Parts: sequence; C-alpha cells; structure tokens
Amino acid sequence: MTEISKLIHGNMSKLHERIKAEQCPFCGAEKNVIIYDSPEIDGVDALQACSCIDCEGEWTEAYRFHRVLLSDETGKFHVILMD
Ligand SMILES: [Zn+2]
Repeated sequence: MTEISKLIHGNMSKLHERIKAEQCPFCGAEKNVIIYDSPEIDGVDALQACSCIDCEGEWTEAYRFHRVLLSDETGKFHVILMD
C-alpha cells in the first residue's frame, strides 16, 4: 500500500481537518511552509499544484468558479452568482 493509500484509508477525518485548516495533508505543517503554484484555469475549474517544504509532499487543490465580485466607487461589493 502506498503512503497516500495509507493516509486516505487510515484516518480520513484527520485528512479532512488538515485540508480545512490549510495545512499540508501529509504532515500537517502550517500553510507558511506550503508553496502554491499559479492556478491553471479550465472553464469553471481551477487546479493549483501545491507542495510542502517540510515533508516534500505534493498535491493539487481543485476549485470551481461560482461568483464574480464587482465593486463600485464606494468599494462596496456586489456579488453575481453563476449557475
Ligand atoms: Zn508536509
């Protein structure tokens, strides 16, 4: 079993906690030691390669476009949600 398989099957709740806290999913290091590459955008999907300085772990974060924020001269934001 690979290290990733062990991580996924061994303790999924710990993995979720680390991802929500913006920590390295492999070792739990804080985000100040995580390197985020520029996101690659494909339609409504964006993929961002990430790596951890502490453990050299690599992963990809996936995002989905869902809104635009427009600001007027007062700096107030108006949100336009996309389907
Ligand atoms: Zn790490």
